[in-house]
Amino acid sequence: MLVMGSMEWASTIERGEFFCPKCNATKSYQRKIARPFLTLYFVPIIPIGGLREFVICRGCRDRYDPSVLVGSNGIERASAAATAATMASFDMEILRLMALMIVEDDYVTEAEIQMAMRVYQGMMMQELPRSELERACREVVALRINASRYVGIAAQGMTYDQKLKAVQAMFAVAGAEGQISPKRLKSLMDAQKQLGLDDVAFQSAVKDATAWVA
Ligand SMILES: [Zn+2]
Repeated sequence: MLVMGSMEWASTIERGEFFCPKCNATKSYQRKIARPFLTLYFVPIIPIGGLREFVICRGCRDRYDPSVLVGSNGIERASAAATAATMASFDMEILRLMALMIVEDDYVTEAEIQMAMRVYQGMMMQELPRSELERACREVVALRINASRYVGIAAQGMTYDQKLKAVQAMFAVAGAEGQISPKRLKSLMDAQKQLGLDDVAFQSAVKDATAWVA
């Protein structure tokens, strides 16, 4: 049995003092950047989701959004950089989620490839080279990534809007052949649960996805 999990690699990028809202006092803090990794037998294999930046109070050990430090030097610039990193990694997330859908039935078809490239271009406003898509498909197969598990971990770093896009992308690829197999339908239902989307949000994302399929 494969032992898969996730872990977070964090590094401290700044130390200082701030006013902690919970301690209600001036405390020292560490500002950290963390990136979650999918692990296989406890070895980090691939990064999932964007960089997450947070501040830890050395008093109460609570985590805060870096905006708690507003007023300190350079914080706005650092946050903008973190946002850009999150956006860039969402490209990668969409690519992997579509690759997982494509390889789910152990059979890659031209219609699926074309659909994935079209959806990516529509969502990201940039072309997806076929070679990159093929590489992503080989990667998810080689690592035997479990789709539902992956969605669950990736969802933690996604905004609501990104989750809706993730559903659309997976649904469009799943339906590229004009019909969705029971196995894929089950994957999509699992994805809804993993993403924490209610029925109304999920159904409207699916409806939007049919525009790609048509
Ligand atoms: Zn505190």
